[in-house]
Formats: sequence, structure tokens, C-alpha cells
Amino acid sequence: MSARVLVVDDILPNVKLLEAKLSSEYFDVITALNGKDALELAATKSPDIILLDIMMPGMDGFEVCERLKADPETAHIPVVMVTALTDATDRVRGLEAGADDFLSKPLNDTALMARVRSLVRLKMTIDEWRIRENTASQLGVVSGSDTQMAESFDKAKIMVVEDKVFESDKFIETLQRDDDSVIPAVSSDQAMALAQEHDFDLITVSLNMADEDGLRLISNLRSNDRTRSIPILMVAMEEDMKRVAQGLEIGAHDYILRPVDRNELLARARTQVRRKRYHNRLRQNYEQSLNMALTDTLTGLFNRRYLSAHFEKILTNIARTQKPIGILMMDIDHFKQVNDTYGHQVGDEVLVEFADRIAKRLRGFDLVARMGGEEFIAILPDITPQIAMQVSERLRQSIADEPFKVSAPEGQIRCSVSIGGVIIEDPEISVDQALKLADDSLYAAKEGGRNQSVFHGIGVITPDMYMTDEQIQEAEAQEKKAEAEKPPELDISKTETSLELDSSDGGNTLQGTSKFLQ
Ligand code: GH3
Ligand code: MG
Ligand code: MG
Repeated sequence: MSARVLVVDDILPNVKLLEAKLSSEYFDVITALNGKDALELAATKSPDIILLDIMMPGMDGFEVCERLKADPETAHIPVVMVTALTDATDRVRGLEAGADDFLSKPLNDTALMARVRSLVRLKMTIDEWRIRENTASQLGVVSGSDTQMAESFDKAKIMVVEDKVFESDKFIETLQRDDDSVIPAVSSDQAMALAQEHDFDLITVSLNMADEDGLRLISNLRSNDRTRSIPILMVAMEEDMKRVAQGLEIGAHDYILRPVDRNELLARARTQVRRKRYHNRLRQNYEQSLNMALTDTLTGLFNRRYLSAHFEKILTNIARTQKPIGILMMDIDHFKQVNDTYGHQVGDEVLVEFADRIAKRLRGFDLVARMGGEEFIAILPDITPQIAMQVSERLRQSIADEPFKVSAPEGQIRCSVSIGGVIIEDPEISVDQALKLADDSLYAAKEGGRNQSVFHGIGVITPDMYMTDEQIQEAEAQEKKAEAEKPPELDISKTETSLELDSSDGGNTLQGTSKFLQ
């Protein structure tokens, strides 16, 4: 990992010292001697982390940090303020300006490296989400989000893991100033159990518990699916720096040293809560954008883009399963007249109701999508021609038999649908070829007078060609019975030929059941 670090300090020897330390750890270091240059480098060189001095002539570190955090282009870059000031008020001021951490000069090397590494890791995760979100906004489905500083930090749910009650009371009292709801845990077991029950925005873990290893708890929280992404704030003593570094290494986000300054605790908690909410927002936007990119907003069905991608997979599956799939291409009859007579709004109502009726009458693993306009498609995996015909007719009747409730003065209107069907058994066929066959049948159904199903290679579907539900059930029962009555020696001597027969079951069932019908 060669992360880029921007070092900002007005005193050249300070810059050189940090540059040497970081370069020896294989970081790529860039430097600035004043706030103005720092802002420019941050915007143009996309550093992964910024180490920022506070006391600089002209623009001081606080102002640089505020500006970085206010600009959506640089707001996501972690900032560590480096200062000789040890006053807690300054720490808090820095955190409030959006700094991610505070390090005191002279710099403790362990603390510096641990901090830099953990913040770089964090930035990489956020970068990943930012890239995805960027793709989503290019697709035009999500408006670009602003910065993490825009998230609220109050009313968070926080767990305080600490075995000394007077310490946890202090935490609770402090965090309640932000209206946080705080739950204390006195042991690791209790903490793990509570974390399964609640959705925490932050967990603070004491590294100074008498009988508990805080680092072990952190490691457990990190490896548990439910708690993996909850920020962890370690609470430690100055002499625990080595363990703090380990904690950052295994995934804790931040630490605070005892004696805990209340304002610093609040400021650090806020930073973590904000960041988690920002992260959640990026993820939700991404999921929502995926959803929107793949579904049709009017009917909620999958769209053509999804259909094409998924259909490809279903087709390649035919080779493995040896089971035919059915395609039903549906187009509402004279839909233009609906729009022309009652208006577009009523047309939309019909489309929604249509989609609903179709989706309700298919199996869970069937796929139904809106191809565009008033054209829909159903893909029926693992099906026999007769069942496909039966499904097709069931769908057609569900549209024609019952009027559609609409907001027009008439209250309801009648519609019908034409359906083009095809059964695909050849795994070599392409998506386009398969759709073309269904389309041709649909065209034939329109030509033949509409409100009918036409199947490729079969023609117009009439009731004598397929079975009712009862007949299918009866046929299945017959098959089971025949299976049970088979002489046992036939079962044992499963030769290659009989296996082949088994695998061409689709065709056999068709022959068997049509015989049954006659
Ligand atoms: P046919 O029986 O031959 O299918 O005739 P049709 O009128 O249904 O077919 P045509 O393709 O001529 O017209 C389809 C109409 O569907 C035209 C278009 O305005 C309308 N349409 C397409 N998308 C939408 C939509 O989202 N909402 C509404 N209300 N109408 C739509
Ligand atoms: Mg139509
Ligand atoms: Mg059409």
C-alpha cells in the first residue's frame, strides 16, 4: 500500500522530519509550507491523509481544516492535526473543525504510524463507496451526496464497555448532552450480547478493564457480521500506546486518553457517529441506485436491462439442468386507444394493475419484467410445454376476464393481452434469438385477432392443448403411483440408458401427459 501523505507545516525542519519518518515507512510524501498551498495540493494531488500543523502565519490549521471539510472534493480526506498545543480546548476546536485526530509534538512514532495507517485504510473504504456512488450519479439515479460533515451527530445509540461504574457514569452523562441513548456493558460477553440486540452507532471500549481484554473484544466485534462496521473508540492510558496501536491495526477507529476530557469525548464521538452515518448514506444511495437502475419505477417490475443480464444466465443454465424454459412475450391490445380515450394517467393505472395481475399468477422463481411501453415478458425456468401453455392462457384470461379499476368516470375499463410463447431447449441459443422467436409468435397473435396466445412451432393455443390445474395434479399423482409400483429390480439396475431417459424427462412428461389426456 503506497498511500500519499500531505504534510503541512510552516517550519521547514518539521516538514523534513515527518517526511523522513513517513518515507522510511514507504509512504509517498508531498509537502506544503502554508495553508494556501495545502488547499491546492489537497485538491489536485488527492492525498490519502493530511498531517496539518495548527500554528501557521496567515491561514492557521483550523481554517485550513474547515475549508478542506467544506469542499466536497476534499471533505473525505482524513486530517490529523499536529500541534505543540496540549490544551484540551484546542483539541476540541480542531475536532469541531472536522479533524479526524490530534497528535502532540514531539510526535510519538508508534502513535503516528498507527494513526496514519488506520486512517488510510478508512479512506480506502470510503473511496470505494464514493466511486460506486459516482457511477450511480452518472447513471442519473442518485444525486451526488455532499460531505460527511453534513450528517447529524446527535441522538446516537452508543454502548460504553467499561467495568468501573463511576467511569461509565461519566461517559453516559457526557454523551447524553447530545441526546445520545447510552447503554453500559461491564464485560465482553455482555457487550457482544447487547451488540446483537441493538444497532449501535458507536461502541467505546476500555483497554483498562480488570478481568477483560479490550483488544480481544475489539477483534470479536470486527469478525462478527452484525457488528463489523460499527465504529469503535478505545479508552486508554498514556502508557497503553502500544496496545492502542494494535487496536487501530485490528480495526478500532479512534482512541481517547485518560483522564478523559468531556469535550474531547463528545467531539470524538460526534466525528465517529457522523462518519458512520455518512458511510451508511453512501451505501444506501448505492443500493437504491442499483435498484432504480434495474427496476421499472411505474410498475416495480424488473426492467429490460436486468432482464437481458439475467436471461443470459438462465440460458446458460439449460445446458446444466437439461430443463427447458418458457418465454412469454406479452403486449396489451389497443393500448393506444386507452391513452387516447382516457388519458395517459389512466393508461398508467392499467399498466400498474396489469403488472400486478401477472406477477401474482407466476411462481416465485419465474421472472417478470417490463420491456418498455405496454410490453412485458415472463421467463419460466424448468417448465414443460403444456404447463407453459397453461400459464400463458391463465395470464391472458386474468387480463380479459376482469375489468380494470381506473380513475376515469366510467370507473372501470376492459383490456386484453396478446401473448407470444416459445419453449427453449437448446442451450446454444442467444438471448436475442430467443426473444426474436417469442416476438414473432406475439406478432402472429396480433395478426390472428389479439386476445390470444400463440406458441412458436405450435400455433394458437386452445384449451384442449394444455391441462387444468386438477389435470396436472392428477397426472403427477399417476406418475408417482407408477413410480411406486415399478418392480424393484428396475430401480437397482440403473444402466446408462435408463439414466439418459431420466435426463430427457421434459420430453417424456410431455408425451406421457398428452397420452393421459387422450
Ligand atoms: P396493439 O394491439 O397492436 O399492441 O396496439 P397498441 O395500441 O397497444 O400498440 P402501439 O404500440 O401502437 O401503442 C402503444 C402505446 O403505449 C403508445 C404509447 O403512447 C403507450 N405507452 C407506452 N408507454 C406508456 C406508459 O408508460 N404509460 C402510458 N400511459 N402509455 C404508454
Ligand atoms: Mg399493444
Ligand atoms: Mg406495443
